[in-house]
Amino acid sequence: MKRMNFKPADIDLVLISHLHGDHFGGMPFLLLEYLYESPRRKPLTIVGPRHLEERTWRLFRTMFPGTKPDLARLVSQLRFVVLEPECDKKIGPIRIRAMRTPHMKHDISLALRIAIAGKSIAFSGDSGWTEDLLPFVAGADLFLCECTYFDSTQLAFHMNYPQLEANRSRFDVGRMVLTHVGREVLDRNDEVTLEMAHDGMRIKV
Ligand SMILES: [Zn+2]
Ligand SMILES: [Zn+2]
Repeated sequence: MKRMNFKPADIDLVLISHLHGDHFGGMPFLLLEYLYESPRRKPLTIVGPRHLEERTWRLFRTMFPGTKPDLARLVSQLRFVVLEPECDKKIGPIRIRAMRTPHMKHDISLALRIAIAGKSIAFSGDSGWTEDLLPFVAGADLFLCECTYFDSTQLAFHMNYPQLEANRSRFDVGRMVLTHVGREVLDRNDEVTLEMAHDGMRIKV
């Protein structure tokens, strides 16, 4: 964020799809940033699946045990909001919808769709193939879709590239960008015709 000149203190909303480390493991660093480097002057809303608040603090205390300075002040500025699948939440000017994806067995993982200022962005989160995603993302201006595998087409808890390419025309979205791209996809980069995200990419919706 800092490399891209985004100020952490400017963020108003954090959206978390599910409680796997590669998706929420950065939360303690963000909170630490607010404790020591960029004190917040306004509230921060953190939206995600159930247990997000408890798991965030458990992770924080594991990583930074004994952190004292003004944690209470920061806690008072945070507002955790639980997002249930199939629910529709309005937070300030943003409308958020969630759908449970086939990814985790016990915990809930979510695909997310936000609408703001007449535009809408959909994110698959982590997900195996499901036909339910088609209506969920339909009409979105931008669809960020995970694409973890290329050859491992038998794994049902993540997407694979051949599946997404074969179904691209069925996604009724303005623009589709692959993200969460795994090693198999990177290795076969030259065969990928769908648009792929890269670190530091800026997208204007
Ligand atoms: Zn995951
Ligand atoms: Zn992941």
